[in-house]
Amino acid sequence: MSKRDFYEVLGVPKNASDDEIKKAYRKLAMKYHPDRNQGDAAKPAEEKFKEAKEAYEMLSDPQKRTAYDQFGHAGVDPNMRGPGGAGAEGFGGFAEAFGDIFGDMFGGRRGAGGGRQVYRGNDLSYAMEITLEEAAKGKEAQIRIPSWENCETCHGSGAKPGTSAKTCTTCSGTGTVQMRQGFFSVQQTCPHCRGTGKIIPEPCTTCHGQGRVKKQKTLEVKIPAGIDDGMRIRSVGNGEPGTNGGPPGDLYIEIRLKKHDIFERDGDDLHCQVPVSFITAALGGEIEVPTLQGKAAIDIPEGTQAGKQFRLRGKGIKGVRASYPGDLYCHIVVETPVKLTEHQRKLLRELEDSLKKGGGKHSPSGESWTDRLKNLFT
Ligand SMILES: [Zn+2]
Ligand SMILES: [Zn+2]
Repeated sequence: MSKRDFYEVLGVPKNASDDEIKKAYRKLAMKYHPDRNQGDAAKPAEEKFKEAKEAYEMLSDPQKRTAYDQFGHAGVDPNMRGPGGAGAEGFGGFAEAFGDIFGDMFGGRRGAGGGRQVYRGNDLSYAMEITLEEAAKGKEAQIRIPSWENCETCHGSGAKPGTSAKTCTTCSGTGTVQMRQGFFSVQQTCPHCRGTGKIIPEPCTTCHGQGRVKKQKTLEVKIPAGIDDGMRIRSVGNGEPGTNGGPPGDLYIEIRLKKHDIFERDGDDLHCQVPVSFITAALGGEIEVPTLQGKAAIDIPEGTQAGKQFRLRGKGIKGVRASYPGDLYCHIVVETPVKLTEHQRKLLRELEDSLKKGGGKHSPSGESWTDRLKNLFT
């Protein structure tokens, strides 16, 4: 099933502001909310509701929205892998990010803040690219993340120095208004003061009335050994600040593994391709193979065929929750010699003649191959 364009779902233009997106979503969510669509209308309304919810979750998150604008659904759908990933792989549902608007509409969380609606801050997401070695050993990293501090100009009030905030007359400072819709009485965030209960006649020019300014801070992050591509590390309380004294959101650090020159990771196992000369493959011998812990040797038996794999137990990666490390699989690639001299050619022709004299016994897959060809042409 092909997915509808998120902007189309919400009925907003591509350059819609965050506010327009939020408004459009609220309208749809009110219309299709399960509480308001019973009986026959329940099922289709539920679909529409989910569709709108997904579109809103994507477009209300700046990072996801950018990924979506660049790569479409492939950029944000965890089931699809976008070109280059757009930093979007493995995004889980940020149910919490959604919580605020939901509580907002249906009289959700109330509490601290003098009767005003209290909203949890949005979650933030941070993409971190690490090498396979770092993923195997774990590492400590420092990242720069946004942080919000009280505005020094207005000391957090949001009002221009010398002026002050006034109680909102629409909601008498409660931050909510009652709306009648048919049989329902719905409590809504006051549209005038947006739930803060206050109106700032002359906003502070430093923070534009927000009372706080965005800064940067350094955060120490411990990346656990064994972490894999697409996993997320949660840093509680390091998301956006809440509203009206609500708790802050969380920060999610998304891990992406850089492509490794030699190893390919598959869960806790590693795979690598090991070139072997056709002479070693035929005669057998010891070859050196790389592992994440250093070099190791494997014994190639006489008559080793191309594609044969050798497993080195425990030479993979020990996953975050695993008790034992995975294995390393070395895939044998038999190399055909190139740029031969006349003398070498002559030797090979002599070898070929000699092998032919031995009939099928030197060619383990030759006989069954000849049989299969026969079956194909008769
Ligand atoms: Zn200010
Ligand atoms: Zn108000």
